[in-house]
Amino acid sequence: MIVGCGVIGATIAYELSQSPDRAITVLDRNLPASGSTGAALGVAMAVMSQKAKGRNWRLREHSLGRYATLLPELEAAIGYPIQRNQGILKLCFDPADLPRWQSLQAIRQEQGYTLELWTPEQILERCPYLDISRAVVGVYSPQDIQVNPTELTQALVAAARQRGVSFPFGEAVVGFETAASGDATTCVGVQTAGQTFPADTVILAAGLGSTPLTASLQQPTILGPVLGQGLRLHLDHSLDPSAAPLVINGNDIHLVPLGNGDYWIGATVEFPANPEDPESAIAEFLAHPPDPTLLDTVLQGAIAYCPALAQGNITDRWFGLRPRPQGQAAPVLKPLEGYSNVMLATGHYRNGVLLAPATAAAVRDWVLGRAT
Ligand SMILES: Cc1cc2nc3c(=O)[nH]c(=O)nc-3n(C[C@H](O)[C@H](O)[C@H](O)COP(=O)(O)OP(=O)(O)OC[C@H]3O[C@@H](n4cnc5c(N)ncnc54)[C@H](O)[C@@H]3O)c2cc1C
Repeated sequence: MIVGCGVIGATIAYELSQSPDRAITVLDRNLPASGSTGAALGVAMAVMSQKAKGRNWRLREHSLGRYATLLPELEAAIGYPIQRNQGILKLCFDPADLPRWQSLQAIRQEQGYTLELWTPEQILERCPYLDISRAVVGVYSPQDIQVNPTELTQALVAAARQRGVSFPFGEAVVGFETAASGDATTCVGVQTAGQTFPADTVILAAGLGSTPLTASLQQPTILGPVLGQGLRLHLDHSLDPSAAPLVINGNDIHLVPLGNGDYWIGATVEFPANPEDPESAIAEFLAHPPDPTLLDTVLQGAIAYCPALAQGNITDRWFGLRPRPQGQAAPVLKPLEGYSNVMLATGHYRNGVLLAPATAAAVRDWVLGRAT
């Protein structure tokens, strides 16, 4: 039983469905990608990330490798393409950052990855639509990607369904049936308003919804919401009409080409006043429309490095709540303490799309390892 069908739950379901003889069910109170995933831009910075070792790098590296096979695999299964981009260019404006990038470039080379450092002239040659007057260097990562999170999640659901995974949507999990077994407790059923689904293994991938679920299992794992706003903008013509336009990042603001002159720009990072009390923090965020001036500041930041965006029409604005663990590092990827058969795969904060494949691999290994 997997609780939650965002990008995390859907990827876990798909990867587990490759093991025969498993009955897999994914419950979601809404539709796939209706939580944080539906608001994400899907930028996956692995090689570009300053993480060079440790758990966070291993998760990023695994995800990058798996995406290279996963996306074609899914496209073959569903029969249509998933919107995505290959290659990210980060504009750096502070000369003091240059040694850090040079050192990362050397590390990545040793690890077998490519990171190119472009002079402002080289940036202009490849991307003549960018204003490079303040740029010191462009860090180009040809192996990093961006993928449309909603399309990805829907493709994972469709492909997992083909392999027999069942997806009862509109089923909110309200509690669990448990049984004592030795030192640990076993979760034997997942309860919704209408029924109890029998379970021998339970994966909690409910994003922000994981907080009350873990509380009901007497092992509260607190995830605070961090609001993010993004927008879609249309230009009369594409900035880069080539077949492989780059995702641009400057000052932590992403510019994601979608084709036909459409772009995503984002995102704000807005912390709640009371992250320790996620229920009231979420309620507080949802009670008021997000502050539009903060999103305007993000847009102005993108216009500063890409002036042509000033001519665009905003065709959509949205926001979402990122699940950020309190008191522990993101993501929360471990068995639930005190239980023999419950695993947490949640709290991916700003990197759930990036880390979904590695998360799913870790869950799959845990499930299969336990079984054997
Ligand atoms: C504006 C914005 C931009 C972002 N950009 C990026 C990016 O560029 N790259 C990146 O990697 N990440 C990005 N993120 C972060 C990313 O969206 C999250 O890390 C990721 O979506 C988390 O996925 P998830 O499946 O854990 O959670 P969610 O997508 O929130 O899914 C959880 C699911 O669980 C369901 N659920 C909850 N409680 C219950 C219950 N009791 N019963 C049944 N179902 C339940 C919900 O309905 C939901 O569908 C961004 C986020 C935002 C808001």
